[in-house]
Amino acid sequence: MPRFSDIVGQEEIKTELKNAIAGGRIAGAYIIRGENRSGKEFVAKVFSQALVCENIKEVTDPALTEPCMSCPACRQAVAHNHPDIVYLHHEKPNSIGIDDVREGIIDTVFIKPYSARHKIYIIEEAEKLTPQAQNALLKTIEEPPEYAVFLILTSQPEALLPTILSRCIMLTMKPVPDDDMRAYLIRELGVSDSRAEICIAFARGNLGRAKALATNEDFEKIRVSALSLMKNIRSMDTRDVMETLKEIRSFGFDINDYLDIMAVWYRDILLFKATHDMNHLVFRDEISGIQKIAAGSAYDGIEEVISALDTAKTRLRSMVDYELTMELLMLTIRENISE
Ligand SMILES: [Zn+2]
Repeated sequence: MPRFSDIVGQEEIKTELKNAIAGGRIAGAYIIRGENRSGKEFVAKVFSQALVCENIKEVTDPALTEPCMSCPACRQAVAHNHPDIVYLHHEKPNSIGIDDVREGIIDTVFIKPYSARHKIYIIEEAEKLTPQAQNALLKTIEEPPEYAVFLILTSQPEALLPTILSRCIMLTMKPVPDDDMRAYLIRELGVSDSRAEICIAFARGNLGRAKALATNEDFEKIRVSALSLMKNIRSMDTRDVMETLKEIRSFGFDINDYLDIMAVWYRDILLFKATHDMNHLVFRDEISGIQKIAAGSAYDGIEEVISALDTAKTRLRSMVDYELTMELLMLTIRENISE
């Protein structure tokens, strides 16, 4: 449900937006910045719905700024067909050009809202705007009609012109605290405690990542195959390792995510080695394996593996050969981790 109370974490953003609504001080343009899957789109959805909801027009108390969910405007917003909430579409998948901005924004922005007091333009993945498109957008943001509100979503604000940045209120998505994430995964998604711990460690504050793993049908298969790989890697030959990796890919699970799960495992080993306390381990069900590896491996070796996992991710992002990258990674693990 798109309500402020359904936004997990992000207290600062919620407070800022609710106060703006209650105080009647809506800015003309906001940038919502945050990494992929951090929930920017959901924040934009809640805010735009609150701006059109018929039951919060005259509200002055920030506590009463929740979209009512039952007025016609709310129902249209939920169904994605409110005429005053406009998503910018673009022709090419990897760039948003000047024609997209003209057709989607400039040609319509001076047409008054149909039914709401505001007309909201939502620009997702704004880092894809070409410089020409940004300049065209800038002109509109500089002298917008008073009812217009621009919500510019991006994971890379540095890709935007300084002149655009300076015209917008910047809302930054923060990592979601572990406790909030745990409550959400357990209460809303019905995830078990131990599975929630793995998802939280893996997600590092990014709710969308936690959700993707928590709801992945193959979660158990991924967990089992990752663990068996990490526990047995020294006795496996390269072909076995490559087979396992191939199997993991066939679960439709992103290899980068898989590397992150491996990093959780090695962080557990490092933590156990330092504290001998199993209570804070993510994989505490696997304590005997962790104990053995921690005892047999050196601190700097484990740290080297954790940084090798990062390096592998960078290599894959820059399109270095997949098999080569994985072979180098497995080599580092074999050299530094004992069983
Ligand atoms: Zn409503």
